[in-house]
Amino acid sequence: MTTAQHTAEAAAAVEIHNAHKSYGVNHVLAGVSLAVPAGQVAAILGPSGSGKSTLLRAINHLEKLDVGYVAINGEPVGVRRHGDRLKELPEQAILAQRARIGFVFQNFNLFPHLTVLDNVTAAPVATRQHSRADAVELARALLASVGLADKADAYPRQLSGGQQQRVAIARALALRPGVILFDEPTSALDPELVGDVLAVIKDLATSGTTLVIVTHEVGFAREVADLVVFLDAGRIVEQGPPSEVIDNPRHPRTREFLSKVL
Ligand code: ADP
Ligand code: MG
Repeated sequence: MTTAQHTAEAAAAVEIHNAHKSYGVNHVLAGVSLAVPAGQVAAILGPSGSGKSTLLRAINHLEKLDVGYVAINGEPVGVRRHGDRLKELPEQAILAQRARIGFVFQNFNLFPHLTVLDNVTAAPVATRQHSRADAVELARALLASVGLADKADAYPRQLSGGQQQRVAIARALALRPGVILFDEPTSALDPELVGDVLAVIKDLATSGTTLVIVTHEVGFAREVADLVVFLDAGRIVEQGPPSEVIDNPRHPRTREFLSKVL
C-alpha cells in the first residue's frame, strides 16, 4: 500500500462495506459501499423508496444490516469483526457509539414536553459528557449559532418548523459528534423556511464535521457537497463530485431523476 492510499483510508470518517438489508422479499439495500473522508460532505440523492433512509439509519445502527457493516473513523458500529464474521456488540456499547454520531430527522423529533434549552442539554447531561451548568452554557452558545438565542425557554410547539429543525441541529451538535447524518432535513418545511435551515447546514459544512445529507435540494447539494451519491433501488448507480454526478451524469437513471427534480 502506498502512503497516499494509506492516508486516504485512515481519513475515511464514514465507511459502508457491502451493505445488504431486506424487509421480507424487499431487498432495500443491495450491496452498498461508500467511503466519506473526514471533514467532507456527502449528499445522497435518489427516488422515494430507493433505500436512502435505511442506509442513513444503518450508519448509526438504528437499522441492523443483514450483510456488511459500517465503520466510523475505522471502528465498526454496533459490531465487532471476528475474521469474516461480525459479532453484535452489547446494547450499551451501541448506545455509546451512537452518541458520537448526530442524527437530524425529517420531522425534527424534538422532545415535546421539554423546553428548547432542555432538548439541547438532555443528551450531554444524560451521557455525563457535561455537568448541567456546562451543558447549559454550551446549549446557549449552540442556540445562538443557529439564530435561536431568544427561544431557549420556548417549547417546540411554539416554534415554526424551521426553528424546530434548527433546535434539532443544535441538539445534534451538543454531543460534539464527528459525524452528523441528515435525513431530508428540509422536506417537511414550508418553502420560505428552507433557506434558514440550509444556511445552518452550510455553516457546518465548512466546520470540519463530516456530514451525510439525504436531500432533494439538488442546488444545495451542488453547492456544499464534496461527494454526491445517487442511489436507486438499493444500489449506488453513480457517485462523484457534483460537477460529474449533478452536472454531467453518466447513468440514464441519474439523468432521468435529475430531470424530474431540477
Ligand atoms: P427512501 O428513504 O429512499 O425513501 P427507505 O429507506 O425509507 O427509502 O425505504 C426503502 C424501502 O424499504 C421502501 O420500500 C420501504 O417501504 C421499505 N421499508 C423501510 N423501512 C421499513 C420497515 N421498517 N419495514 C418494512 N419495510 C420498510
Ligand atoms: Mg427517506
